[in-house]
Amino acid sequence: MHVSTSSVTGELDAWRALPALQQPEWEDEAELRAVVEELAKQPPLVFAGECDQLKERLAAVARGEAFVLQGGDCAETFAGSTADAVRNKLKTLLQMAVVLTYAGRVPVVKIGRMAGQFAKPRSKPVERRGGVELPAYRGDAVNGFEFTAEARRNDPRRLLQAYHCSAVTLNLCRAFTTGGYADLRQVHAWNQDFVAASPAGRRYERLAGEIDRALAFMKACGADPEELHSVEFYSSHEALLLEYERALTRIDSRSGQPYDVSAHLLWIGERTRQLDGAHVEFLRHVRNPIGVKLGPSTTPEDALALAERLNPEGEPGRLTFITRMGADKIRDALPPLIEKVRGSGPPVAWICDPMHGNTFEAPSGHKTRRFDDVLAEVTGFFEVHRALGTHPGGIHIEFTGDDVTECVGGGHEIDEADLHQRYETACDPRLNRSQSLDLAFMVAELYRE
Ligand code: PEP
Ligand code: MN
Repeated sequence: MHVSTSSVTGELDAWRALPALQQPEWEDEAELRAVVEELAKQPPLVFAGECDQLKERLAAVARGEAFVLQGGDCAETFAGSTADAVRNKLKTLLQMAVVLTYAGRVPVVKIGRMAGQFAKPRSKPVERRGGVELPAYRGDAVNGFEFTAEARRNDPRRLLQAYHCSAVTLNLCRAFTTGGYADLRQVHAWNQDFVAASPAGRRYERLAGEIDRALAFMKACGADPEELHSVEFYSSHEALLLEYERALTRIDSRSGQPYDVSAHLLWIGERTRQLDGAHVEFLRHVRNPIGVKLGPSTTPEDALALAERLNPEGEPGRLTFITRMGADKIRDALPPLIEKVRGSGPPVAWICDPMHGNTFEAPSGHKTRRFDDVLAEVTGFFEVHRALGTHPGGIHIEFTGDDVTECVGGGHEIDEADLHQRYETACDPRLNRSQSLDLAFMVAELYRE
C-alpha cells in the first residue's frame, strides 16, 4: 500500500507535540537544526530489507524456534570505536553464540548493542563530585565523560560524530561477520589469546574441538553448507535522542514505508516507555523491529497497552519485550505480564536483561553487579517461562571483549576490592570476556533442561 509522503511525514513528526523525556537541552538551537539537516542527508546505516529479515528472525523467536543474544557496552564511546575494541566485542559475541548454538542446540539471532549506542538516559540531570556539580554525562552523542564544565556541555555536533562512529563500527562488524573471520572453521582462532589463561577459555576450547570433529565429519560426507562460512549480525541501540532518530528515518523505496535506518532494531528504555510519550509515538510509525524495556513497576495493563500500541496489527517479530526485573523480583513480576499479553495481546518475543535490575554500589563507590545475581535473574526468567509454557526467547547483556573488572564474581572471582583495577565503563558495569563466556555456558544448560 502506498500512502502519501506528507501524511507519512506528519505521523513521523507527531511526537513533537508530546512530552519527550531525557532529551538534552542544546544551548544553540540553530546549530542543532544545522546538524539535523546534515544528518538527514547522510546515507542509511542499514537497509529496510535487513530490518525485515531481522523481523522474520524475531518472529521465529516468538514462536519458540530461536534464541536472541543481544549485547555490547552500556555506552559505546567515540574513543572506543577502534578495530581492536570492536573485534574483541564481536569475537566474544561470536564465542557466546557458538556455545549457545552448540550446547543449547538452538539457532541464535545475534544482535550487537553496537554501532549506535551513544546516548544514555540518566536518573539525575546533574552529577556531584567533591562539592562540584556539573550536568550528567548523557553519552558521547551529547557531551563528554570527563568531569569538566567544558566536556559536559551539550554539543549537537556530537550527533554527527555518533553517526560516523556508528558507520565505522558497523562497517567493521559487516567485514568481520561476512569476510571470513566469522567462519565456523575459525572457532579456535577466536579463542587463541584466551585459552591458556582462563577456565572459561579451556571449556570453550573443548567445545570448539567437538565442533571441529563435527565439521570434519560433515565435510567427509560431502556437506559444506554456506551457512557455516558467515554469520548474520544485526545492530541495535536505545532510540533515545528523537532528533537523531528522526533525521535518520527514511521512506523505503520498495514499500513506501518509513524505517529508522540508524540500526536494525531500536528499543525504548524503561524511563521513556510512557504510552502517551514521544518515544512510543515516534517508534510506532517506523517499520523496524522494536524492543521495549520493562522494569518491575510495569503493570500487566501497561504491557498489553504497549503491545497494542506498538504492534496493533499483530505483526510477527515486530515487538520484543526486554524484561529487567532484578533477581529477587523476576519470579513475582514477570508472570502477570506474560499472562496478560498472551491472553489477548499480539505475539511478542520475551527476552531477559539480567543486568539493569541488579546494579548496586560497592563500598569503593563503584557501580557494580554480581555475576550470581545476573545468573539468578536468567534462571528465574527460564523458570517463569517454563512454568507458563511460554518461550524464554533470549538474553540482553552489557559486556565487553576486554578483561575489565566491573562486575564481581564469575569463574575468575573478581572481588569488590578488585573493581578499581580495570574499571573502564563510561556508564554501567559490564561483564568481561570470561564472565560472558561463563554465562553463555550456563544459559546453554538452562536452555536444554
Ligand atoms: C540501558 O540499557 O543501559 C538502560 C538504561 O536500561 P533501562 O532502560 O532498562 O534502565
Ligand atoms: Mn546500562
